[in-house]
Amino acid sequence: MKEYSVTIRFYEELNDFLPANKRKVAFTVSWRGKRSVKDLVESLGVPHVEVDLIIVNGVSVGFDYIVQNDDYISVYPVFEQLNINHITQLRPRPLRHPAFVCDVHLRKLVKYLRLFGFDVLYNQQWDDTDLAQIAAEQKRILLTRDRQLLMRKIVDRGLIVRNILPQKQIVEILNRLDLWDMVTPFSRCIMCNDHVRQLLINDPSFDNEKKKIPAGVLQWCTVYYKCLGCGRIYWEGSHYERLTKKIETIFSENNRS
Ligand SMILES: [Zn+2]
Repeated sequence: MKEYSVTIRFYEELNDFLPANKRKVAFTVSWRGKRSVKDLVESLGVPHVEVDLIIVNGVSVGFDYIVQNDDYISVYPVFEQLNINHITQLRPRPLRHPAFVCDVHLRKLVKYLRLFGFDVLYNQQWDDTDLAQIAAEQKRILLTRDRQLLMRKIVDRGLIVRNILPQKQIVEILNRLDLWDMVTPFSRCIMCNDHVRQLLINDPSFDNEKKKIPAGVLQWCTVYYKCLGCGRIYWEGSHYERLTKKIETIFSENNRS
């Protein structure tokens, strides 16, 4: 089989996937036999869904490009800000209506994303095959800390979540996908992901909902919200105030208003 040797360099956060001696430098890779650039990139540990742009000898190429001997390959991450005139993007951007599906270990991030108004599917019973399928069929961004999962062929939108703490994870996602302007707090049910609507106390249907609300709350609260999916009732009590403070803290710590 023919022997190939190329020079490759990864940019920005793609370096997180590489061993220390290969980060932010051009390095040589050699192998035998024909292979696509997607194959090459993934063999080095970088999931293809994290890649948005590949330049070979100054020309942008698709994932199916067959690597030639002596190629010089530059690999750029998803959503990296670049002058992208006349080059092939490997996936569409930006996301007008971002929707997510989260891996089972990201339960707290799911709650944050929903609290911020984003559409997130989550089920602790889902395995890797389910997650990949849902992401592909519904064009959702698959969030996970498992890079093997993002290497599955059918997944074309996904991000590896780098941070461990949920409060940092939400900031990471908002930053990387530039979603700060799309935040609509309390518009979605944290439990089931459906939309929440205001429930008027003079509405005839309110009587049916009263049994879900503690008597002490009914005495003082006049503004309620109902989830259109699971029927859960929300009101602006102390829990709401705590969450509001949390949101304000996240925004102010990140200089957003
Ligand atoms: Zn609900």
